[in-house]
Amino acid sequence: MSEYLSLEGRTAIVTGGARGIGKAIAETLGARGAKVVVVDLIMDLAEEAANEIATNHGVETAALEADVSDQASVKAMVKAAIAKFGQIDILINNAGITRDGLIMRMKEADWDMVLDINLKGAFNCSQALARPMMKQRYGRIINISSVSGVAGQAGQTNYSSSKAGLLGFTKALAKEVGSRGITVNAVAPGFIETVLTHELPEEIKEMSIKLTPMGRFGTPQDIANAVAFLAAEESSFITGVTLQVDGGMVM
Ligand code: NAD
Repeated sequence: MSEYLSLEGRTAIVTGGARGIGKAIAETLGARGAKVVVVDLIMDLAEEAANEIATNHGVETAALEADVSDQASVKAMVKAAIAKFGQIDILINNAGITRDGLIMRMKEADWDMVLDINLKGAFNCSQALARPMMKQRYGRIINISSVSGVAGQAGQTNYSSSKAGLLGFTKALAKEVGSRGITVNAVAPGFIETVLTHELPEEIKEMSIKLTPMGRFGTPQDIANAVAFLAAEESSFITGVTLQVDGGMVM
């Protein structure tokens, strides 16, 4: 019997895998034996991450450039990934941005950009991989949402909408592709220490810890551990769920 939660023989695409949560996910999947495609716009960091994973875990990796909000760019990336690895088994829709602001002051461009990257990006990548995954009768799609999508966050109408949208997308797609051996799930992180949250005012950070029963910020590794579980073969009867990884912040 193979090792519990092993990803040996599988290939994963991780969008936004160059740094932060995406990088931790890419590394953790590699550590479990998966070949990893790191997709990002920041190519020096993406290549560094891919090389590190290959060196540390002895798995094949690649760094590919794609803007997830751009359908043509995503199609080209998926074509290149399949040409190199033959089959993609796991897709992690992790690339995401924030452009915060109260609704009275939010620019239309900031609304559009957040929805285009966070929500349409997951649509573009999932659509590009749906046919090959259905044909191979196996797939794991994991969408990185947020507690802001579950509970709503003032100052983040754009971001909360995109992340709540991902939860509906997850459930709808899970129903469409379940019969083909493909599971679709969401992970909703709470407050995780990354570049994205580094700039927040101290009082917001302190308040977040107070609201978290586990009494600390999450780490990118906390999220990666949950993703690795859902990405494994053993999770084949789990689909359409949102796994909150937030130290109990939202319940
Ligand atoms: P990050 O900014 O450190 O990393 C995001 C990565 O996505 C970057 O490498 C960036 O270059 C890439 N990216 C951005 N736009 C892209 C595009 N159009 N195409 C391809 N790549 C693109 O952020 P993070 O904190 O690691 O966040 C990762 C995910 O987790 C995001 O979806 C975010 O919304 C979500 N999340 C983060 C937190 C948190 O507290 N940090 C909480 C909940 C959810």
